[in-house]
Amino acid sequence: MNRRRFLKSTGLTLAALAFLDAVSEAKALGLLDDDFKIKMLNENTGIFIAQGGTILFQLGKSGPVIVDDQFPPYAKMLIKELSKKTSLPYQLLINTHHHADHTAGNIAFKDIVPHILAHQNSKLNQENSSIAKGNQNEQLLPDRTYEKVWCEKIGNEKICLKYFGPAHTNGDSVVFFQSSNIVHVGDLVFNKMHPFIDKPYGASIKNWQLVLDNILKSTNKKTKIICGHAAEGSDVIITREEVRNFKNYLSTLYNFVENEVTQHKTREEIIANKVLPGFENWNNKFIENCLDSAYTEVTENYK
Ligand SMILES: [Zn+2]
Repeated sequence: MNRRRFLKSTGLTLAALAFLDAVSEAKALGLLDDDFKIKMLNENTGIFIAQGGTILFQLGKSGPVIVDDQFPPYAKMLIKELSKKTSLPYQLLINTHHHADHTAGNIAFKDIVPHILAHQNSKLNQENSSIAKGNQNEQLLPDRTYEKVWCEKIGNEKICLKYFGPAHTNGDSVVFFQSSNIVHVGDLVFNKMHPFIDKPYGASIKNWQLVLDNILKSTNKKTKIICGHAAEGSDVIITREEVRNFKNYLSTLYNFVENEVTQHKTREEIIANKVLPGFENWNNKFIENCLDSAYTEVTENYK
């Protein structure tokens, strides 16, 4: 049976079918275990949480602006949910950085958003990682990039992207919704969990701490700060204190590994620690990546 006839026989609309496609795709990928959650931050701005980096959306006077988009099945669910709230045309999709759990959903916005915006290194990283994975057809790349700062008023919101140098990758944007005093920091903070540190794509543990200082300087007590990931039981809406805690984590990680290196420990011995003193309860799969990445950075800085 072709699609149109199937639709007629079931009474489903095209939008409903697209949604069912998204759901079955998600089920096939085993992604639907947690379903999704929407939490509003103000009248027209909210976060969407499913699998992958937190999505921020603003419905806006002229149409929706989206920050990050997880994976295609969830991006489609988001589009479906937002269609219940607004019929205005999408204005902009922003990628905080290139990782698939923040950008794989770009493709779901093909012919829906006029522009995708990211830092210039993020675009390059999306391109290179999709070449490496052999899935270039599935990765919709940003058509707009910037180098240091990008600002534009969209609807009633002044939106600014700032680049403070290498941190989680070499292309992380901090996305400010200035009028609403909301900031999406992407994966620049992992709340109460070991982060993923992407050395092959230019991460820097040292500069990451300065980036966090810049985030603290550019926010105030009332700023709603959104991060990409949080440990179970912790929130992706974070306080400035939690940003400071994460900065403390990064300096502790670097100093711990530096101390081990000065005691002539090998990379393998350091990774075998599988724990960071002071953060023993932050256990997840990224601890090995953190120790390994810190070893790479410490030994590079010693050269
Ligand atoms: Zn990431």
